[in-house]
Amino acid sequence: MFDVIVVGGGPVGACVGALLAGGTGRVAGLSVALLEPRPPGVLPGDARPDLRVVALSRASERLLKRAGAWGQMPSERLSAYERMRIWHESIAPTDAGVLVFDAADVGEPNLGYIAEGRALQTALLAAFAEAGGHIETAPFSALAIGEKEVQVSTPQGALTARLVIGADGAQSALRAAAGLAVDIRAYGQTAIVANVATTRPHESTAWQRFMRDGTLAFLPLADGSSSIVWSADDARAAGLVSLSDTAFAAELDRASDLALGTTRLLSQRLSFPLMRVAAQRYVAQRVALIGDAAHVVHPLAGQGVNLGLLDAAALAQEVNAAVAAREDPGALRVLRAYERWRKSEVAAMAISIDTFDRLLAHGAGPLARLMQRGLSWVNASQELRRFFIRRALGLSGELPEAAR
Ligand SMILES: Cc1cc2nc3c(=O)[nH]c(=O)nc-3n(C[C@H](O)[C@H](O)[C@H](O)COP(=O)(O)OP(=O)(O)OC[C@H]3O[C@@H](n4cnc5c(N)ncnc54)[C@H](O)[C@@H]3O)c2cc1C
Repeated sequence: MFDVIVVGGGPVGACVGALLAGGTGRVAGLSVALLEPRPPGVLPGDARPDLRVVALSRASERLLKRAGAWGQMPSERLSAYERMRIWHESIAPTDAGVLVFDAADVGEPNLGYIAEGRALQTALLAAFAEAGGHIETAPFSALAIGEKEVQVSTPQGALTARLVIGADGAQSALRAAAGLAVDIRAYGQTAIVANVATTRPHESTAWQRFMRDGTLAFLPLADGSSSIVWSADDARAAGLVSLSDTAFAAELDRASDLALGTTRLLSQRLSFPLMRVAAQRYVAQRVALIGDAAHVVHPLAGQGVNLGLLDAAALAQEVNAAVAAREDPGALRVLRAYERWRKSEVAAMAISIDTFDRLLAHGAGPLARLMQRGLSWVNASQELRRFFIRRALGLSGELPEAAR
């Protein structure tokens, strides 16, 4: 019997596993099994950058250090970004109204890191294994919740534990098996991701342009290229995906207003239909959901992984506190404390992201112009800029101890 079984070894599941198996000053590491049917292979050093990248906040960086994963990320797959430039299509990328967040304004070396998705997941799984965690290369298939334990089945056999954590992503099978209801709403938008070369240097800056039909971000990569995330209404995105490479690059140049000069595609294009997913409850007796299994938000603020890693740390903190107090870590009372903490933080973030999407990314009229004026006001006030930079660093809200 294990203390905990984690279903799903994406970045969030691997992180909670590493934090629980590694223990804290007061609590020895727990025995943790993790189910992941498709663990990623290690990328050769000279492989092109991964198409999926994530923006990691300072809070996430601290958590990854605590989990023992930060030092395992190859430096060529991590790129520090020092600035963000955010503007609406109603002004030029060089206009004084462009909102600029600069790490130097708050005396920080950078605002965070752009990390390749596969390198992040591999580093966290390695940290989990080093902390003594046990990995089963198998999918979850069935759940039986008992009075004192929970049984998790895979096609290879069954495992038991006192708590099962669902970290198996937006389509979570564990969430369905536990009978946890979920609200799902399509945004009617699709995100296109690709790697591009630009004729102007990215200047270690994350660039984001809001347009009447979507949002376009350029995230700086360590090799000088950029990863684009272009969220557009479904029909427009389908048209963009079907274009030839050169015709797509020409559309990209129009959409970026040449902020980084002209572009050239370096990779294929991947597209993701965008959904808002919100589990009505994050917990049940002996079951807790974290990461995309509990909530999926619009990628425009680059917060998906950051929110999930904070879930992982908050849950690990509550579970460790319960174990230190000789309580049952699968008890609903313990899990509810995690749910109360994280559900409200995630809801607040999801509301502000959706407001940006509705007003700035899709507004063409007076409201969008008002929002652009708002960006200029923020830009003009050092106090307001500092406030938002702290939010971008992920250092606001009630942080788990491991992220402080
Ligand atoms: C276009 C796009 C851009 C994004 N950009 C950013 C960004 O810049 N910053 C950011 O923070 N976030 C970003 N995100 C969001 C981010 O990718 C997700 O929030 C993140 O991957 C969630 O991690 P997770 O570990 O919860 O789930 P996942 O990464 O989905 O991992 C789930 C894991 O569970 C496994 N699994 C599935 N089914 C089973 C099963 N039955 N049994 C066992 N295991 C199973 C899967 O193999 C997988 O490894 C973006 C998302 C999109 C779509």
